[in-house]
Amino acid sequence: MAIIIDGKKISSDIKNELKARVENITAKGIKPKLALLLVGEDAASQMYVRSKERYCNDIGIESVVLRMPNTTTEEEVLDIIDKWNNDKTVNGILVQLPLPKHINESKVLLSISPSKDVDGFHPENVGRLVAGLPSYVPCTPLGIYELLKRYKINLKGKHCVVVGRSNIVGKPIANLLMQKEPNANAIVTVCHSAAPDISYYTKQADVLIAAVGSPELIKGEDVKEGVVVIDVGINRVEDLSTEKGYRVVGDVNFAEVSKKASAITPVPGGVGPMTISMLILNTLRSAEKEVYKD
Ligand code: NAD
Repeated sequence: MAIIIDGKKISSDIKNELKARVENITAKGIKPKLALLLVGEDAASQMYVRSKERYCNDIGIESVVLRMPNTTTEEEVLDIIDKWNNDKTVNGILVQLPLPKHINESKVLLSISPSKDVDGFHPENVGRLVAGLPSYVPCTPLGIYELLKRYKINLKGKHCVVVGRSNIVGKPIANLLMQKEPNANAIVTVCHSAAPDISYYTKQADVLIAAVGSPELIKGEDVKEGVVVIDVGINRVEDLSTEKGYRVVGDVNFAEVSKKASAITPVPGGVGPMTISMLILNTLRSAEKEVYKD
């Protein structure tokens, strides 16, 4: 039987650890603060922002949430960020994505000061990650890294196959796992939509990371015995037997793949709960001046 990698439990452990760290830094007179900007009325985004606000509140981090209408201009968004960049009491800035179509997302992300970029999307932080320098790492890949570390999965010299090459998950996790350091040092292959047959790659994986967004794309026959599987996918599929009319599945067929895997993350309850803990960890690291010293 595969070990079920319990992201919910690990995230809750981390939350307790962060609470203690916040108490520590607050006792030294530093009050960590996260500023969140939400533009528009997207229901999922509203829910994500509320849970970030709640998490901060639970562990004693101050949060400021600015909720702006859909009609907000790009200039107004840039002005808000400029204000937060120059506010010494703000440690982390998060712009909830997606932004309305009339606002240039890259321009907005580029305007966030790299030292407050707790989502790790600014090109300066991307470059620092690739160069192996201290950086803010995007929260979902950082959560995956933390799960592998806490489950003591030795990656040195192992073949990690990442399916998906997004800036949010695929590229940063590949970069993290190939770093020459004790909890990484893996041999990494990245495959994506141009691969004629992804099973050619997935079958070679000692550790498989699926970040595609395609329900149960990876089947039992696509992996080898003993593989460690990290399923990042969050996909809704119709299920009329449930109250909501749908259920959430990953990019991996859990029933089939868990029979061959040595360890696997469930969906939900695997990678998902880690992301928010990593965002707050990054905010705390900013308050502690762990990445940018000035
Ligand atoms: P994305 O759409 O930006 O990228 C998907 C990637 O998959 C692309 O690089 C594409 O080339 C690749 N791809 C698409 N079809 C493929 C195929 N048939 N074979 C091989 N590669 C293929 O998505 P994303 O933002 O990286 O998210 C991926 C999944 O992870 C989604 O289901 C998303 O909801 C989920 N996600 C979860 C969390 C979390 O748990 N907190 C965070 C981010 C994303």
